[in-house]
Amino acid sequence: MIIVMSATATAEEINSVKSAILAEGLQPHENPAQGHVVIALVGEVSTRRQHLESRFSALPGVESVTPITRPFKLASREFHPDDTIVEVGPAVIGDGSLTVMAGPCSVESREVALETAQAVAAGGATILRGGAFKPRTSPYAFQGLGVEALRYLAEARELTGLPVITEVMEPSQVEVVNRYADILQIGTRNMQNYSLLTAVGRVAKPVMLKRGYGATIEEWLMAAEYIISSGNPNVILCERGIRTFETSTRNTMDLTAVPLLHHLTHLPVIVDPSHATGKRWLVKPLAMAGVAIGADGVMVEVHPRPDEALSDGEQSLTFEGFGDLMASLRPLHRQVAALPRDPVLSAAAMAAAIPTEH
Ligand code: PEP
Ligand code: MN
Repeated sequence: MIIVMSATATAEEINSVKSAILAEGLQPHENPAQGHVVIALVGEVSTRRQHLESRFSALPGVESVTPITRPFKLASREFHPDDTIVEVGPAVIGDGSLTVMAGPCSVESREVALETAQAVAAGGATILRGGAFKPRTSPYAFQGLGVEALRYLAEARELTGLPVITEVMEPSQVEVVNRYADILQIGTRNMQNYSLLTAVGRVAKPVMLKRGYGATIEEWLMAAEYIISSGNPNVILCERGIRTFETSTRNTMDLTAVPLLHHLTHLPVIVDPSHATGKRWLVKPLAMAGVAIGADGVMVEVHPRPDEALSDGEQSLTFEGFGDLMASLRPLHRQVAALPRDPVLSAAAMAAAIPTEH
């Protein structure tokens, strides 16, 4: 339910609405939107919707009370019509610029971390990625260097100036990952790990929530809702491919998700063609497709010697491949960015503007 305060509502009136919400056992979340204060009330309202609607409508300073039609509330565009823009050091995500997160699948050594960080920084990446705690399908596969890898990532940030994103796999790791990283990543396997979502909701740094490989858009946004309702509004979504009947690629990249998300939510959307396809040569075309359809950026895996990588070598770009990707992505993004950013119309407008030679 959303309470829109009138443009002339006083601070006292706003505060008494919030107190009335708390008195009903619900949580108020305020969002100053388009000149009006908008307060979402979050909690179980279904059984007493009518009572709450008439109670809040009668309070001084209230202009309107409307139900939020989506099950996700704080993540919805209805509550927050403006795009969320996430600032992390020198990088800005969701402001219309092109975000490029690049780096090794896992931080295998100090050398790999520093060498790759320098190469991707020189090539135009805006954020350095690298796994320290690795969720591996096999318990016998390389599990990551843990805290040692976090230190190498911090050193790479010093060297290049790039903010760092890395995955946190369980609530007990949140404290240490938060100490070293600039963005905390929730991996596909953990998208519905509610205690982890709540734990990263309590930190002050942005969180990138990867889509569960079997999750619907609604389940994904409900997972984002856990993080936001726990106190962290800086959530970034990442489409990394879903499991379908198709076996010729590692996953199926759901491009439809990008404009659909821009329509449903104010959160920035990143695409990860590395995990979506599992094949190096498919990374560039799918990254371009993601940017063409309106993604706020891409995440790609890059390794100095992919054949020797301890994880995901087949989908990792060489330094040269990363340079080639950036040479195509930048001009494409300039064209897309010049188009109107109406979230409802963006898909059609962008489709019409994709140059035919691609
Ligand atoms: C990753 O980005 O390192 C990763 C493990 O991705 P996903 O969770 O999407 O499989
Ligand atoms: Mn990987």
